[in-house]
Amino acid sequence: MKWLRSLLYLGLLVALPACAVVKVSPVNYRGYSVEKEIVPYLVKFEENCKTPVKIHIRFERIKWDIWSDEVAAYCFKFGVKYIHVDYDWWVSHTLKDVREELIYHELGHCLLNRGHDKTKLFVDYPGGRPKSIMYPYVFGYWGEYGLHREYYIKELCGDE
Ligand SMILES: [Zn+2]
Repeated sequence: MKWLRSLLYLGLLVALPACAVVKVSPVNYRGYSVEKEIVPYLVKFEENCKTPVKIHIRFERIKWDIWSDEVAAYCFKFGVKYIHVDYDWWVSHTLKDVREELIYHELGHCLLNRGHDKTKLFVDYPGGRPKSIMYPYVFGYWGEYGLHREYYIKELCGDE
């Protein structure tokens, strides 16, 4: 049985780096369970959009990105609403703007009932830039969100 044990150890070695434990630290925010690290983004969202954030938000490891692009987060709307944020994505994307874009996008779905908007504005960049934060992909990696943050927040929340 020695070979089996070696095989098992090998399996563990290979599996460990990809399976770092998802560290969750839920806190109570307006009566909902929210990851502590996400709270500052919710406070800002409330300031910006004048809408109280009443929704559960938790970290998990999102597994269903095998066939498509990476799924960084999603809004689960059936029954008890939840925003799920992929823990690995969160840990590897530490830029505040990029994290904000993701959280605001999901709040757009879950709280403001907005769907995706693939429209592009052909200003500033020859290839255009997304008209809305509800663009189906995170675009802040290249700075467009940070540069036009005020515009995107207005577009999301409306002027008033
Ligand atoms: Zn979306």
